[in-house]
Amino acid sequence: MRLEDFGYNAFFEESRAFLKLPVSSMTRVTSCHKDTYTVAGEQGEYASKITGKIFYTSMEKENFPVVGDWVSLSGLEENHPTIKVILPRKNILLRRSAGGADSQPIGANIDAAFIIQGLDRDYNLNRLERYLTAVTNCKIRPVLVLNKTDLISGEELREKISLIKKRFPRLHIIPSSGITDGGTSGLKKFIRKKTTYCFIGSSGVGKSSLINSLIGKETLEIGALSDYTKKGTHTTCLRSLHVLDNGGIVIDNPGMREFGMSGDLTEDDTGEIFKKLEEIALKCKYSNCSHGGEVGCAVKDALDSGELDNKKYLSYIKLQKEMQHNTMSKLEKRNKDKKFGKFCKTVMARRKKAQS
Ligand code: GDP
Ligand code: ZN
Repeated sequence: MRLEDFGYNAFFEESRAFLKLPVSSMTRVTSCHKDTYTVAGEQGEYASKITGKIFYTSMEKENFPVVGDWVSLSGLEENHPTIKVILPRKNILLRRSAGGADSQPIGANIDAAFIIQGLDRDYNLNRLERYLTAVTNCKIRPVLVLNKTDLISGEELREKISLIKKRFPRLHIIPSSGITDGGTSGLKKFIRKKTTYCFIGSSGVGKSSLINSLIGKETLEIGALSDYTKKGTHTTCLRSLHVLDNGGIVIDNPGMREFGMSGDLTEDDTGEIFKKLEEIALKCKYSNCSHGGEVGCAVKDALDSGELDNKKYLSYIKLQKEMQHNTMSKLEKRNKDKKFGKFCKTVMARRKKAQS
């Protein structure tokens, strides 16, 4: 396979050239396993280690390789594959802890994220919105997959889709079923070669079934191929990056599958709470009321009278805080973009110099 088949493109080539790394050293991380990383390149797949002090050039704070990273490998001649450099990432998908304090990187260089929602339960649009925000903040294109279509009628499905379209007009929606014959044809049609996808969504929506049906017979267990492992303890790793028959690339690992939203806010009834709150908040004296104790706050009145449940109100506040947190990360990202923009300019300037 060529590097392009693993998703290599001009974006990464630019950095490789700038850093003067040999093309032959480029590989993509297919799994992470304690201190061992499996990587795949044109010559095959290797189990590799990282150097003590990894030369990290990305603007991101996440210092270790994650699945989907493009890395430069050295020590192949000595049968000692070592990751020397992680190329700057196009993006990284982070999973925030429940408190939102720290975040764990679960995948890098993803072109689109399939947000899976099951049609068997009353999913809610607010939760979908929060998935959309999280994914978009990571600079990944969100695509909605409405799964388990086999459980509802065509008419019901069309109704649901039109409701979603009303609220998210630009969102691409793919109906699918992980268990019926041909139920994944829409997904398969959408997936392009050399493009990297991941699947996220709450537990039970059918991610595993969909992924298994896409990946097909490929055995999930891989034995890393390099001699290095044969010398040391033999490691068998669960591969997290798969190249499908149609050339699409899928990242799937336990972290990805658990990627969800924190705390009670994932409850199915949140939609109801927010609808009610929105209604009540309309009656606040000031349109920009923060419901934090201002004069004429209808929310406060509703809390006092018991019309509004205190616990539910707390959930609302929590959501607001999370939204704020997301917005902040967006700003941070923007700053990083600026830095990367400067980096690109330097590359261009050097190119010009070299040509003249
Ligand atoms: P995950 O937790 O998101 O990985 O979901 P799973 O793939 O494990 O599926 C959860 C449950 O939903 C299992 O019992 C599946 O058999 C069922 N399921 C998955 N996909 C479908 C589907 O398209 N239609 C129906 N009716 N059930 C499905
Ligand atoms: Zn108010």
